[in-house]
Amino acid sequence: MSKFGFSIIETRTIDYDQFDGRLLKDVLIGEPSFLTCMSCGGCTATCSAGNLIDFNIRRMGLLLRQGETELLAKEIDKCMLCGKCALVCPRDINIRNVIMLIKKGIVKYRNQ
Ligand code: SF4
Ligand code: SF4
Repeated sequence: MSKFGFSIIETRTIDYDQFDGRLLKDVLIGEPSFLTCMSCGGCTATCSAGNLIDFNIRRMGLLLRQGETELLAKEIDKCMLCGKCALVCPRDINIRNVIMLIKKGIVKYRNQ
């Protein structure tokens, strides 16, 4: 096969028969306002960590909804827990609390 300077990536299709929604459920119980997130990116634009390193808090929300717990576990500790994101959210979502709930859930469901 000719080399075109790119390679085919692994499929990112979500298999909902295998989907693990436990972490998302825990977050929505602890912070129901997260259900109203419209992925506007306001949190990402103001994020202290995101301004310094490769970290995207909006992406964390998407990973959570997709049940990508392993990727979340790798990234979530980059958050500095400063709380700036919660101050700018137009939906008044306490994202800092969402992050704390994600961290708690990762520990709870690890190795289960
Ligand atoms: S600012 Fe609020 S509504 Fe916008 S992406 Fe972040 S959490 Fe969602
Ligand atoms: S609490 Fe975390 S995600 Fe929110 S602005 Fe601060 S570093 Fe970014």
